[in-house]
Amino acid sequence: MAQTDWLSQVAAFATHQVAPVAGAWGPADRPGRDLLPPAALLGLTGIELPVAEGGLGLPFGAKARACEVLAAADFGFAMSVVNTHNVAAKLALCAASEVKARWLPDLLDGRISACTALTEPGAGSDFAAIRMTARRDGGDWILDGEKTWITNARHAGLAIVYAQCGELGDRDGIGAFVVDLKAPGAERFARESAFSQVGTGTGGFRLNRYRLDESNLLLEPGTAFRSILSEINGARVYVAAMCCGMVQAALEAATEYGAERQSFGRPLAGHQAWRLDLARCATQLAAARALVAQAIAAIETDSEAQLLSAQAKIHAVDVAQAQLPVLLHAMGAEGLAPERPFARHLAAAQIAALTDGSTEMLLERVAQLTRAGTVRATQSNRR
Ligand SMILES: Cc1cc2nc3c(=O)[nH]c(=O)nc-3n(C[C@H](O)[C@H](O)[C@H](O)COP(=O)(O)OP(=O)(O)OC[C@H]3O[C@@H](n4cnc5c(N)ncnc54)[C@H](O)[C@@H]3O)c2cc1C
Repeated sequence: MAQTDWLSQVAAFATHQVAPVAGAWGPADRPGRDLLPPAALLGLTGIELPVAEGGLGLPFGAKARACEVLAAADFGFAMSVVNTHNVAAKLALCAASEVKARWLPDLLDGRISACTALTEPGAGSDFAAIRMTARRDGGDWILDGEKTWITNARHAGLAIVYAQCGELGDRDGIGAFVVDLKAPGAERFARESAFSQVGTGTGGFRLNRYRLDESNLLLEPGTAFRSILSEINGARVYVAAMCCGMVQAALEAATEYGAERQSFGRPLAGHQAWRLDLARCATQLAAARALVAQAIAAIETDSEAQLLSAQAKIHAVDVAQAQLPVLLHAMGAEGLAPERPFARHLAAAQIAALTDGSTEMLLERVAQLTRAGTVRATQSNRR
């Protein structure tokens, strides 16, 4: 099937199956149980996996575009699906054949969700500070520690867990393991959020003397930190695309409303002061999309993508954080109606500003890569 036809099917799924129910999800709901199997049927849990491994074999841009389309319906659900996809892709690429055989069929069919667990109660932005330990015990590994604020952890069947195999604080000591979250020694918990992003299934887990055999070591100590640094460029870009999707959906809703809602004898859109806000939003969105497209191209061509990925995410998140309140306001009180997505999207923009590198951490990276802020200091020193 052509990529455009596939994306149309994903868009139809998002519009007709996700968007109509997402606004009503409460903390007790499990959107993934009902919607992950149909998402998997569309190939959303195997987009980038090779066809020989049961995936669609599509390029990164297809994943970013699918994330955008899903996030227009619900950011949380989009995050949930892409996190399951990413675990499947990682297993296809790096796992031992018996580990693949055990997990890939369930992941690709959407029978289980999965998570990638870096964050801990004491370590978020500073990933090298993780305290989850992995110690050798004969031919096995014993894992101890806690992960928190993890997408899908509340219900996930398995996790890729990053753990310190060496001295605390040593980034070269970090390895990654495949952990069955339903096995003895693993205790999952929910992380409730005032932002009601139910679709993310956010949670955490504690591992207590959790024993694993060698086949479940996915990334050797010394390789895990570098692997995360290269993969995270992609995550930044699809989160940026998701922000574009949310702004696009809100802009469309406000545009439609502005054509119908009457004030002072004409539609809202007939008032110049009203429509200029939407025009500014459309312009900001176009700029964000252009950066996302450049970053996708860099990733797909294996070019240096660190700077573009960081800039795309910083800008798209900024646009979402700035423009979603404007669009909500343009709807008047109607924007606050629970069936409207504005409040959910607004909350999601706050989450997007934290995940896969917070805006501050990314600005710091841009400063390092462009020497922004340091060049002028050098010049003024010369004067
Ligand atoms: C809904 C949700 C889903 C998530 N899913 C996952 C997941 O699937 N897997 C996972 O591993 N993690 C996940 N996270 C965690 C996320 O990656 C972290 O929230 C993020 O890394 C920031 O860490 P922190 O929240 O501990 O904030 P901290 O690191 O404590 O930072 C707090 C604030 O200080 C700022 N800050 C920190 N250090 C600096 C600095 N050096 N200079 C300037 N400012 C700084 C940060 O930008 C932030 O604004 C998720 C979080 C949320 C909210």
